[in-house]
Amino acid sequence: LLMAYDPAKRLARMRVVIEEGLVGVGLMYQILDTPIAVSEAPDATPLPDGPGAVRFREVVFGYEDKPPLLRSLDVTFAAGQTTALVGPSGGGKSTIINLILRLYDPGEGRVEIDGFDLRNATFASLRDKIAFVGQETFLFDGTLKENIAMGRENASDKEIIAAAKAANAHDFISAMPQGYDTDVGENGANLSGGQRQRIAIARAILRDSPILIMDEATSALDSESEYLVNEALQKLSAGRTAIVIAHRLSTILSADRIVVIKDGQVVEEGSQAELLSQGGLFKSLYDRQFNAAE
Ligand code: ADP
Ligand code: MG
Repeated sequence: LLMAYDPAKRLARMRVVIEEGLVGVGLMYQILDTPIAVSEAPDATPLPDGPGAVRFREVVFGYEDKPPLLRSLDVTFAAGQTTALVGPSGGGKSTIINLILRLYDPGEGRVEIDGFDLRNATFASLRDKIAFVGQETFLFDGTLKENIAMGRENASDKEIIAAAKAANAHDFISAMPQGYDTDVGENGANLSGGQRQRIAIARAILRDSPILIMDEATSALDSESEYLVNEALQKLSAGRTAIVIAHRLSTILSADRIVVIKDGQVVEEGSQAELLSQGGLFKSLYDRQFNAAE
């Protein structure tokens, strides 16, 4: 029983589990309770080195017993740019993310990273390419330091602290009695929602992957935490291929490009200024949120 509560042992076990792939892609991306619907091809090879451009080519996809949601979707997420996905709830934004994370495979068409079909890629190389920050954060019962370093076991203390600073987490960590050696408790029970998110962001910063995906990463937070988390996310996005989904439009106004998704289709795309002048769906979402805020 003692051993089961030893954080270092727990961490070691967790790594073994992750490396053996026993917990599957879901945990690798910190998404819990997601069924593993794909397997690694026997002749899979690592994704090539590249800037992390993501492309959907004529992708057809529907969940099991449902009619196809994506019916020949073509969309590109340019390398090094921040693209915001917006649109009505249920339109398919998270589904697009699920396909990039390869939690599912398309029925037809393909999803590529730097021109490489994800179906032919090893899970490990895909995991290295992508950092994911969702609404729920996965923390394990260990110290803050161990939780930040997860996925980069060779990180030095200096790197861990630099990542925490960039994530706006260093100050609250330093204020804790044991600092970086403070135990986070069962799934971060000793931390607030905003603190947990900033630990997840520090982890993503430390992993330094070319692609960063954020799905409603701040929607559960109060406005002060949201501000701190957003600031951290913007730093993290710089120079990466970033894909951000946020219900609050204030979160996505710094994006280079906006793609509006409705009923599984791209209905508008362009810069914020372009979409506002078009006077379509984005404009009406924008007016509704900002007028409501006043
Ligand atoms: P959004 O993120 O834009 O709100 P989603 O991609 O989550 O939209 O959902 C698109 C549609 O797919 C919705 O009708 C939703 O109910 C359905 N859906 C999402 N996830 C699943 C799933 N795991 N199994 C079955 N249906 C799903
Ligand atoms: Mg969603």
